[in-house]
Amino acid sequence: MNFKSFNLHPHIESGIRDLGYEAPTPIQIQAIPPILKSRDVMGQAQTGTGKTAAFVLPILQRLMDGPRKHVRALIMAPTRELAEQTHEAIRQLGRYTKLKSVTIYGGVNQNPQISKLRSGAEIVVACPGRLIDLMDKGVIDLGRVEVLVLDEADRMFDMGFLPDIRNILKRLPVERQTLLFSATMPDDVRDLAESILRNPVTVKVGDAVPISTVSHAIYPVDQHLKTSLLMKILDCTDMASVLVFTRTKDRATRLAKQMKKSGFLVTSLQGDLPQNKRQEALNGFRSGKYQVLVATDIAARGIDVSQISHVINYDMPDTVDAYTHRIGRTGRATRNGDAFTFVTRPDRAFVWTIENVLGEKLERRILANFDYTIPAPAAGKGSSRSQHSRTRPGSTNDTQQSPPRNTRSSSPVSRPGSGAGRGRRDLSHFPFHAGSPQLKSRRSHSTR
Ligand code: AMP
Repeated sequence: MNFKSFNLHPHIESGIRDLGYEAPTPIQIQAIPPILKSRDVMGQAQTGTGKTAAFVLPILQRLMDGPRKHVRALIMAPTRELAEQTHEAIRQLGRYTKLKSVTIYGGVNQNPQISKLRSGAEIVVACPGRLIDLMDKGVIDLGRVEVLVLDEADRMFDMGFLPDIRNILKRLPVERQTLLFSATMPDDVRDLAESILRNPVTVKVGDAVPISTVSHAIYPVDQHLKTSLLMKILDCTDMASVLVFTRTKDRATRLAKQMKKSGFLVTSLQGDLPQNKRQEALNGFRSGKYQVLVATDIAARGIDVSQISHVINYDMPDTVDAYTHRIGRTGRATRNGDAFTFVTRPDRAFVWTIENVLGEKLERRILANFDYTIPAPAAGKGSSRSQHSRTRPGSTNDTQQSPPRNTRSSSPVSRPGSGAGRGRRDLSHFPFHAGSPQLKSRRSHSTR
């Protein structure tokens, strides 16, 4: 199947061609035809599957005909980053259409947004809070909206946007096409969908599990050794660009600072940063100025850096959905990516939950050249003595003890009999090594 079969306007086809898309992705094959027929659609697709183009392309097609310079399509996104990313997709796919899109979100001066709205746009990509502000001020007229998209609806729920969404819905024309996309379909999202979609076509790509182009591995480690382990892994693994997730904003900032001190090209992204700093971090990460981006879940939501080679969960995510979303940052579309998760003993039960959802065991990896036995520092004494040195792979220091690089998975793992395990201590204190029923099978798996 190719894009020709959708009979899109030649200007839209040119945009697709410029982006180098050769064939539609499964979600595009399923969603584009009913959306073109003005049907409501409930789409379950993970991030990275091409879902943005699945709704942007038919929206552009619809807007090619009819009046210009007033808002005819509204796309709701949970975060500014996702809004910007969607706006960028519209800009690229619609570059020959002369259709205009405007982003509306808080945390930045509203005047430029207002003046762009005044100069006339057909598509608005908005986060709920600022949109309501501008509606209340009478700056934006949504009375002629023909299509509404609720993107990443599950995340909007997680972030408490439901009342805002209901508020906005009340102020839109009843006669409209509504599209709802979500990576997962918990009951509250399904309830909302049932109440706002009319006779929808349901499209679904895979289950809510991380996309198959990603290979997963977990690294059991004690909390106080995570930073050293992270830096060590980065030192001896081929990683083009790495997204590291932490649980808290504070930890994201601190970890990035520590890594910077150790010589890494690193920046951080968290919700407290002003928008210009966020954008600088994202642009720098995209351009390769920074090799590592340390971020919290919400800040990283919607990041599309197609070259991300590795996602590292420095802290275990809270839910399987969050795991899915994080992992969706790598292996986007058809590229391959690796996802490593640091697992402390209290995280163990959650790993089993993830494995149940994935339907497979995650490979356990032990870094050969790493001392896992360093004790936690006494309270108030700062961090433990660092075992990290900025030796790049290939330096004498590294090659003496590290196993040969596993180029397939780009991951330094210990192997039996390779000598790589020299210096390996008693590992019984690790999670999964202490009487875990999974241990035996996993060991042989991880030391293949
Ligand atoms: P999304 O799931 O919308 O975030 O898209 C993930 C990535 O896939 C983005 O970088 C898109 O540019 C890319 N993409 C979307 N559709 C296609 C396609 N048909 N062929 C190749 N890449 C695509």
